[in-house]
Amino acid sequence: MAKINEECGVFGIISQKEEDLANLTYGGLFALQHRGQEACGIAINNEGIFHYYKDLGLLNDVFTSERLASLGKGSICIGHVRYSTSGVTNRMNAQPMVVNHSKGHLALCHNGNLVNSYELRNKLELEGCIFQTTTDTEVISYILTRERINSKSMEEALDKTMDVIDGAYSLVMMTPSKLICCRDPYGFRPLCYGQMEDGSYVVASESCSLDCVGAKLIRDVEPGEILVFNFDGTINSYTRHCNSKKSSLCIFEYIYFARSDSIIEGASVHQARVKAGELLAKEHKVDADVVIGVPDSGLDAAIGYSKESKIPYEIGLLKNKYIGRTFIASNQKLREQMVKLKLNPIKEVIQGKRVVLVDDSIVRGTTSARLVKLVRDAGAKEVHMRLTCPPFIYPCYYGTDVDSQENLIAFHHTIPEIAKIIGVDSLGYLSLEALEKIVCPRKCNQGYCKACFDGVYPTKIPSNASKNRFENKISDEWKQKHSQRNNKGD
Ligand code: SF4
Repeated sequence: MAKINEECGVFGIISQKEEDLANLTYGGLFALQHRGQEACGIAINNEGIFHYYKDLGLLNDVFTSERLASLGKGSICIGHVRYSTSGVTNRMNAQPMVVNHSKGHLALCHNGNLVNSYELRNKLELEGCIFQTTTDTEVISYILTRERINSKSMEEALDKTMDVIDGAYSLVMMTPSKLICCRDPYGFRPLCYGQMEDGSYVVASESCSLDCVGAKLIRDVEPGEILVFNFDGTINSYTRHCNSKKSSLCIFEYIYFARSDSIIEGASVHQARVKAGELLAKEHKVDADVVIGVPDSGLDAAIGYSKESKIPYEIGLLKNKYIGRTFIASNQKLREQMVKLKLNPIKEVIQGKRVVLVDDSIVRGTTSARLVKLVRDAGAKEVHMRLTCPPFIYPCYYGTDVDSQENLIAFHHTIPEIAKIIGVDSLGYLSLEALEKIVCPRKCNQGYCKACFDGVYPTKIPSNASKNRFENKISDEWKQKHSQRNNKGD
């Protein structure tokens, strides 16, 4: 785990006429590729018949123009890009999940992780269900299709399912006659919808995806809300689960997961990152000659740091945008070369300078150490690293791979120790207090999940079996050692 990996991206579109929606869905998913690069899939509804294709790989590897054309036209289409935070990486686990049930069929895409999937899966298995995949999504689809038997509609079945499932889920679903989406009552993961000029409605994980297909953002799906989009252009909203939990949008969406050009719950991700940079400059001042950002999320924050500190901002690291995840670095030398393949320093900007290097976070520290070496090798006189979030100390249960405290460098070391390990002259993390201030404006009654930084979980902690994957006990000695972590700064 060199960097934290995103969860998944979901997309859906409904049109009043048969159209080439697979191509549009491909475009919408392309804008969400940063949320998942392991697998992808598209399912299209052609007069009630579902055609779909899914496989491991990036969108442009999986969907050739012939493959997209083979899906044909349709009036509803959904798609998914996946990063496996529950379930292993194999073709079976790719989405959309397409299921036949007693009252029809259903295609389903999911972003997030359930915290009670272990208990639900066990119960279903004891009742005779045979699972084809290891994903939470299949657990949801089993419950949903069972509820459908005694419900008037799929939305009623979904409403009942939401009484049972707990955790993070932003869902986009397709039935023969409807596009349905919902967001868990905590609102962990983002989900929004918009409309195209021809009246088609589009649902997506992030607004950048709406922009890319030419749809205008209407609003976010509210935490706990079910939205049903019908062929006649009407929308039904079901809100029984709204306000049933404390709203807990993942704050790390603003720091790292989401794309800078997205708007989440009324707040610009770009502006949040610039603000984080400004606050970092206030909290962790340093005498330096140049501020550079680590692409991509560090760039916006570096601009903010420069604005506040009056230290000039320059582009000092260039990212190779065409590197895929298929390049596997099997040994240390290759891993070091890979950093150079991904990022190349601009020597003329760095040589002989005292550099402020702004990044989003440190996970294990290995990537940061390589990055610092890269900047030093380019001739930096001093390197001062600044990070736009507090140290990661706790695991995440909500659909990211912050999954083991053993892997988190800040769990084992103090900030001065980390500075020494990664080889910087000084190191400053954004404080927990400043973290909430980065997002503005936002509805004042809404809160955030910050659990990987403060250990305050909005849900119950997953059951023992899931917990074994994550949990380490935090000792009193450790707590004492780290209690002043944010105040110590450099
Ligand atoms: Fe986001 Fe951290 Fe909460 Fe996970 S624990 S949802 S990464 S803020």
